[in-house]
Amino acid sequence: MSTKPSDKDVLVVVDVQNDFCGGGALEVRGGEEIVPAVNALIGKFDHVVFTQDWHPPGHGSFASTHNAQMFSAINVSYGIQTLWPNHCVQGTPGSDFHPDLKTTTGELIIRKGFRKEVDSYSAFFENDQLTQTGLKGYLNERGLERVHVCGLAIDFCVAFSAIDAVRCGFESFVVEDACRAIDVDGSLEHAKAMMLKTGVKMAASADYA
Ligand SMILES: [Zn+2]
Repeated sequence: MSTKPSDKDVLVVVDVQNDFCGGGALEVRGGEEIVPAVNALIGKFDHVVFTQDWHPPGHGSFASTHNAQMFSAINVSYGIQTLWPNHCVQGTPGSDFHPDLKTTTGELIIRKGFRKEVDSYSAFFENDQLTQTGLKGYLNERGLERVHVCGLAIDFCVAFSAIDAVRCGFESFVVEDACRAIDVDGSLEHAKAMMLKTGVKMAASADYA
């Protein structure tokens, strides 16, 4: 498969932030290892968008907010919500991009999860599956047609973004070697099955030569 980027392609770099990297509050194993691969991809795309998980203190996705166990799940108005350690609190060092990430050429940063009651895994929709982030409109207005997703973590924010890209009418790819997984309770296997079922295509950095 050759997916050499054209002016219709956009790279969406999901949540490459300190809290998801080594030593972070919600560490994704090996998260920081993807930074060189992500930077190499950034260099190949004319259009790059970043997402940044961006929660207010006491966010509804934090276990501490509910006095509950981390990684447990609760029922909320929009379905089942996994409860996470406090992470990516707005303006804290943990919410910053990894210091080696080459963000300079990014044309848009989508911040997500800033509404206290609703989490947002996807770059396109909040977890209520209804509230749009504006990314679909942005890509449509710019004439971008193919979405290539990389970042953290493949079984949550990357998968939700890639699936929603299909839902929004874009061709959607996940660059697997430029991602890492949280893999809690079979989430990686489930996410991969959902992506394939939806029509997300799996790609590798080498495809973008
Ligand atoms: Zn979050």
